Amino acid sequence: MRALTLVADRKLELQDVPPPQPPGDGEVQIRVKAVALNHLDLWGFRGMAFAKRQMPLVVGVEASGEIAATGPGVNGFRPGQKVVMYGGLTCGVCKACREGRDNLCEKVAGIMGFHVDGFARDLLNMSARLVIPVLENVADRDAACAPIAFATVEHMLFDNAKLQPGETILVQAGGSGIGTVAIKMAKALGCTVITTVGDDAKAEKARALGADHVINYKSERFETITRKLTNKKGVDVVFEHVGGEGFNGSLLVLKRGGRLVTCGSTAGPSIQFNLMQLFQQQYKIFGSFGATMANIRASLAKMAKGMTPVIDLEVPLAEFERGLARLESRQVFGKVVVTF
Ligand SMILES: [Zn+2]
Repeated sequence: MRALTLVADRKLELQDVPPPQPPGDGEVQIRVKAVALNHLDLWGFRGMAFAKRQMPLVVGVEASGEIAATGPGVNGFRPGQKVVMYGGLTCGVCKACREGRDNLCEKVAGIMGFHVDGFARDLLNMSARLVIPVLENVADRDAACAPIAFATVEHMLFDNAKLQPGETILVQAGGSGIGTVAIKMAKALGCTVITTVGDDAKAEKARALGADHVINYKSERFETITRKLTNKKGVDVVFEHVGGEGFNGSLLVLKRGGRLVTCGSTAGPSIQFNLMQLFQQQYKIFGSFGATMANIRASLAKMAKGMTPVIDLEVPLAEFERGLARLESRQVFGKVVVTF
C-alpha cells in the first residue's frame, strides 16, 4: 500500500509499505479516502525546531475514511461505514479527557501527521475511541475538513469566544481554509460578518459566502474601515490567525469588553502590545489550538445539514506537495484536499 512519508525536512516520498496487521483489541482499521491540508502540514514539511518527532514520518493531519475492519471488543462500527479520526493521541483517562476537553489532554502522545505517523496512507489502525462516524450524505472530501478546519473554528467561535446571534465579528483572512469556515458559521448564527482578504477576486468570493463587508487589506486599512462600519464602536469578536503586525489592529477594532480568539500567527509569532489598552478596554484574548471530539461531531452535523467547506483544489496523493505549495501561495481560497 501507499504511504506518503516525510524523510527529511522538505522531502516527501511516496513509499510502498506493507499493510497494517489486522486491527487489535479496541481498534478499527480505516481505509483513508481524503486528506485535507492545513498550516500544520506546512510547519511539519518545513521542519519546526520545537517539534519532537522521528523521521520517516507519514504526513497528513486531517482526513476522512471508511471502516475496513473492526478489532475484538469494538462495537458501533461496521465495515464500509464513513468516519473521521481525531488526530491527537489523547490518553482518554486524564481529567481533561474525562471532561471532554480533549485538546487539553495532560498526556497527549502527539499529533498524527506532525509528531507521529499521520493519515496520508491507504490503511491504518487506530483506537476506535478516536474515530467518529460520518453520515452517508457527507462527501468524503468534505468530511476530511471536519477534524481540524471545521472543528477548530467551532472551538474558537463557540467554546472560546462564545459568539452570540446578532453580534458583529471581524474574520481575518477570510479566504483561508478556516476563514471561509468562520464566515459560514458566523453567518449561519445570524451575525454581521466583516472580513479581510488580500485581493479583489477573493473579495468577490467572500461576498458570495455571505460576508456582509469585505475589506481588501492591501488597498485599505481594515482598522479604519471596521471602525467606520461599526460607528466607531468596534466589533464584538475578532477571529484571528494571522498575527504579526495586524494583531494590534485586531485589538484596536474590538469594542470595549470585546473578545479576540486566535489560533495562528502566519504573519509572525511575536508582537508588542499595550497592556494598558488590554485592561482598560477589558479585552478578552483566547488562545485556541485544535478542538474537542464534540467540536468534530458538531461540525459533521453542520455538514450533514448542508454547510460544506469551500474546496479550492483537489490533488491526488502523489501531488500532495503541489497542494502544499498552493496553500503556501496565498492564492488559495478555501481548502486544499488530497484524494485517494
Ligand atoms: Zn488525557
